[in-house]
Order: sequence, then structure tokens, then C-alpha cells
Amino acid sequence: MNPIALHAGNPGPMTGDGNWTWLIPGRVPTLIDAGTGVGEHLDALESALGGAKLAQVLVTHGHSDHASGAAAIAGRMPGVRFLKKPWPARDDRWGVEWSPLRDGDAIAVGDTFVTTVGTPGHAPDHVCFWHPESRMLFGGDLAIEGTTVWLPSSLDGDLHAYLKSLERVLALDPIRVFPAHGEVIDDPGTLLRNYIDHRLKREEQVIEALRSGDTSPEAIAGRIYTRLRDDLRSRAVETVISHLKKLEQDGRAHRSELAWHIIEP
Ligand SMILES: [Zn+2]
Repeated sequence: MNPIALHAGNPGPMTGDGNWTWLIPGRVPTLIDAGTGVGEHLDALESALGGAKLAQVLVTHGHSDHASGAAAIAGRMPGVRFLKKPWPARDDRWGVEWSPLRDGDAIAVGDTFVTTVGTPGHAPDHVCFWHPESRMLFGGDLAIEGTTVWLPSSLDGDLHAYLKSLERVLALDPIRVFPAHGEVIDDPGTLLRNYIDHRLKREEQVIEALRSGDTSPEAIAGRIYTRLRDDLRSRAVETVISHLKKLEQDGRAHRSELAWHIIEP
């Protein structure tokens, strides 16, 4: 698998350097992730297609930096099919009709096939695309080299599901991940195992904070993230909420009207 990296041209506070989208040329020209509709992205896409007609866009999840460019692509390239895992509460946002992706679907892309791997956590509709022949994976926002992945609780991020998704991808034993942000990941096993360790350590800190009497996500975030830029504080609070919800699912914490408490085993 040797896809063409096309930058979406959307740097910003939420996306860092911006997003990568991946073009798989061949019999079924396929773009993985739609970007945000930036003109330079569409120009680069057109020139990389070299006169071929884009057949379809597979999106890894419905966050705006991955899916909002769908309408611009549809406008410039009529007849393109758009596919994503359904998330009925939010799928009408981006101005195109989505064909549903299901876990395990094999999809013809380029001159080969990929399999849809449901990987909820970062978002409920998050999927990766697995190419078993080369053991390479289109990872979306599952993993980002050099940093951790944000689990936005306000957009239904789910740490419990995310950890399961990491285990699921680890079991595939990929040799390379093409991500939506950052460098291509050439040792995904190490990165994904580090992610799991990191989250479990963070969970211990949240448990300690609850034991120390903190009852709000804000107080817990203040205790754990002592040197955080102000503009990142709300993200830290969301991360703590993800941990609290996981502890609740695990039966380790409960929430009364306004306060969180630890449940000791
Ligand atoms: Zn995302």
C-alpha cells in the first residue's frame, strides 16, 4: 500500500499543522478523509488524480477536519460516493449523503481492498481502514506520533471504548499507520502500547485526586495538570471527564448530583 499524502491545508488551534488525507490511485480512485474544502487541497487532489475520476471518499469519522470538506469535493467532482460509519445524531452536518460503512466491510479501493475496523473512542463513529496484504492501516485520529489523542467528552469521546480500540488494532499487528495528523507511524505497536500505559497511569492520578477529596473535573484537572496553558485547560477538563466516565463504567466511581466520588473495591 503506497497512498499519496495530500495535505488538507487547514492548520489551526484544534488541528495543529492540519490534516493529512490519503489518495489511493488505481481502478477505484479513493480518498481517505475529506479535509475541510480548502481550495489548495482540491487542486492538489485534482492534479494527483491526473485526469482520473475520484470514485469515493471514505471518512474515518465525522469531526469537521475530516468530513466538512465533503460538500466542496462533491461540488467540484460530481458523482463521488461518500462513506462513513453512521452516527444518526450528527450525520446530516456536512451537506452530502453518506453511504453507511459497517464494521468488517471489505471495500474496493485503488487496485485492492481494505477492511473497515470499528475503533470508537475518539469519536463514536471512528473507523480505521485495514489493508491486510501489506499490514498497513489508515488510522484517522486513533494515534498521532509524538503526542496523545484527545478524547472530547463533549463530542461523545469514550475512553473505555478507546482503550478497547487500541487493543483491537494492536491485535492486527500493523507495521505502518497512515494517520490524519503528524508523521507516518512506522512502529505502531510501541506507540499504541505506550498510549495504553499512559492512560492507565493517568487513571491512577484521577483515582488519587478523588481519594484526596477532589469532586469536580475542574479540581482534578487542576491537580493533575499543574502547568497547563490557559487555552488547553478546557481540553484537560474534558480528558478528566473521559477518565471519570470510564471509572464509572468500571464501577470505580460514581456521580451524585454535582460531585464525583471514588468507590473503593
Ligand atoms: Zn477527530
